[in-house]
Amino acid sequence: MPELPEVETVVRSVRPRLVGKTISRVAVGNAFHKVLATHSLKTFNRLIANQRIKHVWRRGKYIVVDLDHGHLLIHLRMTGRLLFRLLPEDNPKHLTAHFIFTDGSELFFKDYRKFGRLYYFSTLDPLDQRLGIEPLSDRFTSRWLFEHLRDRNRAMKPLLLDQKFIAGLGNIYADEVLWQARVHPLSSSKNISRQKADRLHQAIRSILQESIDLQGTTIINFSFGENRRGNYRSKLNVFGQEGHPCPRCGATILKIRVAQRGTHVCPRCQRRRR
Ligand SMILES: [Zn+2]
Repeated sequence: MPELPEVETVVRSVRPRLVGKTISRVAVGNAFHKVLATHSLKTFNRLIANQRIKHVWRRGKYIVVDLDHGHLLIHLRMTGRLLFRLLPEDNPKHLTAHFIFTDGSELFFKDYRKFGRLYYFSTLDPLDQRLGIEPLSDRFTSRWLFEHLRDRNRAMKPLLLDQKFIAGLGNIYADEVLWQARVHPLSSSKNISRQKADRLHQAIRSILQESIDLQGTTIINFSFGENRRGNYRSKLNVFGQEGHPCPRCGATILKIRVAQRGTHVCPRCQRRRR
């Protein structure tokens, strides 16, 4: 699933071409109406028609499209992609929706697995209710992290994946962040020392920023623009590296299950603290 750096990469790739356009309507493909999460097709179109796109930005893993009135939200989930034109290899069966603009141009929402969703909200309150702090915002300080870890008694990996705690981390970056900070995925958040919280904070900021700079990680599905791929994959230290030596200490990276998620851990660098 695209995580914060991949969604940010998509936002940056589509923003210059979307801002200033006026939406004519949205169409959904193949009688697939579930893609519209908040309204029927008819209502959705009534709400967004003739609205100009003012800005495109990211909140957590959501793409936010500010309109004259209200906000269109796009969640790519597993395999959603945004394309300005269909390529010969694009199967029309995978086209779940497409936007038509008043200038005649189009934006296609292609989604092989069909879990991606479109939302319309008049305010951003529903989004803020679903999502916690933005890890690249100024509000996210190491002190904030330390205090909020202390407030909770949860295993670290599921807590980092909880979008209501920190918005945007998923399975890949949670594993990388925990390895970088030398924190075991099952350690309890209330036992994280101030020093470890500082390391975690630093790891979250630097890993997300570096991945954005490299346009995200492509493992299987992620691409943006016209089949462009993210370049962060070669920087991964533990994710997908089970059986390989830890780049820091040489111990063999293990893959364990934590909260139903495949989780990569160095048994020597990341000691568990209950
Ligand atoms: Zn190690």
